[in-house]
Order: sequence, then structure tokens, then C-alpha cells
Amino acid sequence: MVKNDPFANATKQVNDACDIIGIKDKELREYLAMPNKMMRVKIPVKMDNGKIRVFTGFRSQHNNDRGPYKGGIRYFNPEGGVEYMEREVMALSSWMTWKCAIVDIPLGGGKGGIYVNPKTEKLSDGEMERLTRQFAYKISEIIGPEKDIPAPDVYTTGREMTQIMDTFSKLNGNKYSPGVITGKPISMGGSLARNVATGLGTAYCVREAAKALKINLKTSKVVLQGFGNASTFAGIYLEKMGAKVIGASDSKGSILFEKGAKVSKLMEYKEKTGSVVGFPGSKKVSTEELLTAKCDILVPGALENQITAKIANNLKCKIIGEAANGPTLPEADPIIAKKKILVIPDILANSGGVCISYLEWVQNNMGYYWSFDEVANKMEKNITKGFKDAYELSKKHKIDMRKATMVLAVERVLEAFNQKGIWP
Ligand code: NAD
Repeated sequence: MVKNDPFANATKQVNDACDIIGIKDKELREYLAMPNKMMRVKIPVKMDNGKIRVFTGFRSQHNNDRGPYKGGIRYFNPEGGVEYMEREVMALSSWMTWKCAIVDIPLGGGKGGIYVNPKTEKLSDGEMERLTRQFAYKISEIIGPEKDIPAPDVYTTGREMTQIMDTFSKLNGNKYSPGVITGKPISMGGSLARNVATGLGTAYCVREAAKALKINLKTSKVVLQGFGNASTFAGIYLEKMGAKVIGASDSKGSILFEKGAKVSKLMEYKEKTGSVVGFPGSKKVSTEELLTAKCDILVPGALENQITAKIANNLKCKIIGEAANGPTLPEADPIIAKKKILVIPDILANSGGVCISYLEWVQNNMGYYWSFDEVANKMEKNITKGFKDAYELSKKHKIDMRKATMVLAVERVLEAFNQKGIWP
């Protein structure tokens, strides 16, 4: 048994949605919850010291009723070990299925990874490349532009994506196959706007939520937890929409600056000093003080499990845009709902990333590339429609947005499943 099993959480979410939709059939519930396929591979690598080391890798293919599997590959070593990682990858692949369905892109859910921490284990570039190419070889039979399209995730970058694409292309008789993977560097067929996609998508969702609640973004105050890719770009785009950032944090601590500061100035400061902490005119505060500061919009954009029941009780924001995956504990949801704070759940708020990954794949498949604005505008359409569909459903069923997004997603996957039926 795995402790704090993430796949049990993912399964519970599917069952909760089935309860609301009225799906009683246990077998159908199992079909929706379980991955279609889970591949576990052994990856032998010749290390720089001449010895062989065997790594363990996974690829979980959750559901492809709406299109090829899609989802990242992470190189990580969660505390629970290899068995925990297997369950985590299964859960993450399930969330990818729902994420793609909410924003209505024709893809399913997948996720993969290798149990390794390249940072703490200090793997050399050569070891990383041999590990990546051997993993690509092991999963090559189940991935492909029409089958399963991986992407970067924790501790993997455009470099690993290029190596996977190159390995796959060479294994297939040198068939140029950029569409086998997304998150590639621009020179390798990557898409413009992919680097800002997640934060930009969060900002679009927050804008729609503000409209729904009749909150004026131009007089709104924003607190960002984390100052990495997702949260920084959420801050930049919310600022462009007229809001003011009054708090931020990173692994070194949290700060509040009541008068507000330009995100670009914070970025410059972090670039110079390695942290946002110490930013001129700011006050250092605890994580709890940051999250419960008086603001209109809170963007938890760093870590899981940040908003506990205790923090939820003290929240003073009106909108939460979950740029991070899983920042809110289930115990906090009913408290937040009671306080009438509108939560844009992670599977919607951070889906800008997978939307633009989809657009990268489309561009690869047609061999024609769009401008930054063309890509961003297409993502905006999908994500704002996803928000509106979920918001309407939340009103119709009188449920919170987290449940509404899951209901919407499960209904869409089920519709595709019913259209196709079972064959052979
Ligand atoms: P990142 O590595 O660029 O940034 C993470 C940030 O969190 C850093 O600023 C780091 O300093 C900060 N941080 C770490 N520990 C902290 C702590 N204890 N308190 C406060 N801040 C802390 O990562 P990212 O890509 O921005 O991802 C952040 C979250 O967004 C993750 O949950 C990730 O799964 C999710 N997400 C990211 C993308 C994407 O495209 N980048 C897509 C979907 C979801």
C-alpha cells in the first residue's frame, strides 16, 4: 500500500463527478478512473565511471477516447519511492485526460517519468543523454504523433525533448517526427508562446472570473505564491490587464509590498540576488501571512498542499487562480466555497500549457508555423470557453468550480466513449 496515494485521490475525483452525473455503473466508473495502459520499464545506462546502473521508468496512458495520449515526462524521486511514483504517474495521467477535455482539445491523458533526481545526483550531460535516449527507446513502441505525445515536466527540458524526438525519428527509419513530442526548443519545431503559456492561461481565467464576479481588474490586487514560470507570467499578464501585484514568494521566503511593484522589477531583483526576498520597500512575511493577505486575486503558483483548512479559514481574497498543480487540500474546499471565494481549479487554471502544447503538435503535423499572437489567441479561445462552460455548470448544479470542471470533463470523455462503443 502506498501512503497518501495520489491515484486514490484522482479516483475519488472521478467517482465524485460520477455521483453528480448519476453514473452508478461500477464498471463504467472503473473504466473512467483506471489508465488504459501502464508501462513500467527497466533502463540500463552505462555511467561515466564505466559501471552499469539500472533506472526505473514509467509511461501511463490513461484515456484516448478523445485523441492521442498527452502529458509530460518527469525525472524525479518522490519520497515514497518507486512504488509511490508509479501511482503518482497514474494520477497525473488521469488529470491530463480531464484537463484536455475541459479546454476541448482533441487529446487524451498520459504521463511518464524516471525515478531519478538529476539535480541531487549530479548526473553528467552524457549520463542524462544516455538515460533519456534509452528511455525513449523503451517507450518508443507506445508513443508517436498519432499515439502518445509526451512533453517536459519536473526536471526535464527542451534538451531532453529533442533527444527523445531524435531517438524516435531514427528508430523509425529516419522519419522526421517533430509531432512525437512537445516542449521542444523553437529551432527544433517548438511553438512560440509555449514559455508563457501556463501563466498567460491563468491570467485569462482570472480575467473571466473577475468578469463573472463583476470585479474590476484595474483596481485589483494580486498575490503570487512562487516566482517561477507559471506564477511570474501569471503576474506579468494580470499586470498587463491592469491589476497590481502586492505580494510574491519563492523558496527563500515571502514578501508583501502594499503599494505594489512592477513584476519586471521583481524579476530583475531576483535575477541579481537569487530571490525576491529583500526587494526594496517590501516586508518579509510567513507563508501563511502571504496566502492570507488582503487581496482580490491569489495565485498559488509554486507547490502542492499549500491551502490547508486553517489557511482557508483566514483567506481574504475573492478569486484563487490555481496555477500550481494541487495547491489546495480537499479539506479546504468546503471552507473556501462557504466564503464564496471563486476557485479556478488547477486542471483549468494551468491548462494554458497543454493548450499550447497541442498547438505545437498541430503546427508540427502541418509543417507550418504561427506567430506568437496567433498561438496565444487560439489558446485564449479554448481556455475562456472552458472557464465559461465550467462556470455555467457550477451554477446549474450548484456545485463548486472544482467539481464542475470534473463533471464537464467526465461528460465529454464519456460522450466520446459512447460514440465509439467497444470494439473489438
Ligand atoms: P518553476 O520551477 O519555474 O517555479 C517554481 C517556483 O516555486 C520557484 O519560484 C520556486 O522558488 C518556488 N518555490 C519553491 N519552493 C517554494 C516554497 N516553499 N514557497 C514558495 N515558493 C516556492 O516551476 P513552474 O513550472 O512555475 O511550476 C510551478 C507549478 O505550476 C507546479 O505545481 C507545476 O506542476 C505547475 N504547472 C506548471 C506548468 C508549466 O508549464 N510551467 C504547467 C502546468 C502546471
